[in-house]
Amino acid sequence: MSNFKVLLLDGIDPAGIDLIKRSKSIDPLVHDKISRDSLMSIVAEADGIIVRSSTVVDRELMQRASRLKVVGRAGVGVDNVDLDAATEYGILVMNSPGGSTTTTAEHTVAMLFALARNIPQAYVTLRARQWEKNRFKGVELAGKTLGVIGLGRIGSEVARKCQAMGMNVIAYDPYINPDAHLSSGIELVEIESIFEQADFITVHVPLSDTTRNLINKDTIARMKDGVRLVNCARGGIIDEFDLYNALKAQKVAGAAFDVFEVEPNTESPLFQLENFIATPHLGASTVEAQRRVSEDICRQVSDYLLKNTVDGALNFPRLDAGTVERYQHFVDLAVRVATFIAQICAGRMQTVSIRYSGEVCDMNLNYLTSLIVRSLLVPVLREGVNLVNAMHVAKQRGIRVQETRVPAPENFTNLILIELKTDLESHRVSGTVFTDKLPRIVNIDGYPLEVVPRGNMIFFTNNDKPGVIGAIGSVLGRCSVNIAGMHLGREHEGGKALALLLVDNPVDKEVIEQFRQVPNILSAKVVHV
Ligand code: NAD
Repeated sequence: MSNFKVLLLDGIDPAGIDLIKRSKSIDPLVHDKISRDSLMSIVAEADGIIVRSSTVVDRELMQRASRLKVVGRAGVGVDNVDLDAATEYGILVMNSPGGSTTTTAEHTVAMLFALARNIPQAYVTLRARQWEKNRFKGVELAGKTLGVIGLGRIGSEVARKCQAMGMNVIAYDPYINPDAHLSSGIELVEIESIFEQADFITVHVPLSDTTRNLINKDTIARMKDGVRLVNCARGGIIDEFDLYNALKAQKVAGAAFDVFEVEPNTESPLFQLENFIATPHLGASTVEAQRRVSEDICRQVSDYLLKNTVDGALNFPRLDAGTVERYQHFVDLAVRVATFIAQICAGRMQTVSIRYSGEVCDMNLNYLTSLIVRSLLVPVLREGVNLVNAMHVAKQRGIRVQETRVPAPENFTNLILIELKTDLESHRVSGTVFTDKLPRIVNIDGYPLEVVPRGNMIFFTNNDKPGVIGAIGSVLGRCSVNIAGMHLGREHEGGKALALLLVDNPVDKEVIEQFRQVPNILSAKVVHV
C-alpha cells in the first residue's frame, strides 16, 4: 500500500511521473487540467503537489491541505506559490532551476543573433511578400563586447557560448567569488564598465528590490550609443517605458525580450517599434528542459517524502542524504540537548542562544538551528511546528534566536551550547560527541558532568547537604523506581548542587510531589529524551 499521495498538475512531463511511479511508495494523482473547485475538494488527501506555472497554490488551498508537506515547482519561478503561507504551515517549497539552464542560455544566444541580424523583422516582411534585402543590414557578434549582468547558472553559460562565438565577454555580479571565474577568461567588472563598454548587454539576475528597473533612463544614458539589450530573465529588470523612449530615439539600437512586467502581454507599446523583438516567455520551453525539470522536481519531492533529504528548497536550507548521514551524531546531539533543556526550563520562552564550536561548524548550521528551535517548541506545539516553520513560529511567538559560530574548538573538539531564557528562569546546557559518536551532556548551568541523555531522567537542584541523595533513593525505592545511573555536580561544598538521575521506568507526578517534601531539594523535574 502507498504511504504518500502526490498531485501532479499543469501537464507535468511524463518522465517525472514515471519516476514517481517507480518509487512504489508514492501514488501519483495526475490532473493535467483541473478546476479550482475540484482541486479544493481533493487537496486534503495530498502529501505533495507538483505544479508548473498555472495552478495557484495559495493560503486558501494550503488551509484545506491538512496533509500537505511539500510543493514542487517544475521550473524556476514560484510566483504562483505563496511562500510565506507555506512557511507558516510548515510546507516545504522546492523548485528545479538547473534543468532549464542550457535551454534558456540557448534562447538568449538565439535572441542575440536575431537582434544582430534582424531575423524576425525580415521574416515578417517576407511573409508580407516584400523582398527587402537592403533594409535589414545587420552587425556581427564576433569581436563585439557582451556585458553579462548576473553570472549565475544561465549568465555563465551564455558567457561561455558567446566567448566561443568570438565575443569579448565582461560580466558584473557582486555576489560571486571572482576566483571561481579566474580560468574562464570572463573579466569581472563593475556595472559602470558594462554600461560604458558593452555593445550588447544581457541580464540574468533574479527580480528583486535591487534589480527592479536596474536598466532605466539614467543607466541607459550611460551606455554606448547603439547598444543592444536582451532580457531573458524576468520582466521588470529593464524599465519598459524608459526602453520604449530609448529605442524610439535610437539610443538603444535594438532590444529583445522573452519576459515582461505583466504577462501574458500582447498589448505592450514596445510591439509597435521595429527595433524591438520578443518571444512569449519561451526561455525554458524545449522538450529537453521540460523533461529535465519534471524529472528533477519529481525526484526532489519523492526524496523529501521518502528520505527526508532537502534539495532545491526555497524556504529551507539544503541538506542531502550524504550530509544527514555524515553528521547524524551532531543532529542527534542537537535534538537531545534541546529536548533536555526544554523540559528543565519552566515558563514562557524569551531567548534561545546557541553557540556552536569546533567540528560541528562544518555542518549546515541553519539546519541545526531550525532543528534545535523545533525541538524546543515541540513539547508546546506538537505537530504545529516542524523544521520548515520552526524559525517562523519562534519569531511569531516573540522568541529571539541568537546563534554564535566558533569554528576553532573550545575545550572540546565539538560543542553545542544552548542557553534558554524564559520569563521565570534560565538554563545553560552543553553537549559534545566523542569518538564513540554518542551524544553527551557535559555541562548543566556551569556544573561539569558527563552523561549520555536517554530515556527517563529526573533533574534535581538542591542544597549540598548530607542526606539529600539518600532521601532521593528512599523515595524512588518506595515508589519502585529503579535508578540506572546518577550524575552529580556542585558549586562548592554546602553550596548549590544538581543531580541527574537516569531511571528505568517512567516517573509520575506523585513521585515528584514527594520530592518536593524532602528538605533541601529545591526542584525536581521529569525529563524524557
Ligand atoms: P542564478 O541564481 O543561478 O543566477 C543569478 C545570479 O544573479 C547570481 O549569480 C547572483 O549573484 C546574481 N545577482 C543577484 N543580484 C544581482 C545584482 N543586483 N547584480 C548583479 N548580479 C546579481 O539564476 P539563473 O538560473 O541563472 O537564472 C537567472 C534568471 O533567469 C532568473 O531571473 C530566472 O528567473 C530567469 N529564468 C528565466 C527563464 C525564462 O523562461 N525566460 C528560464 C529560467 C530562468
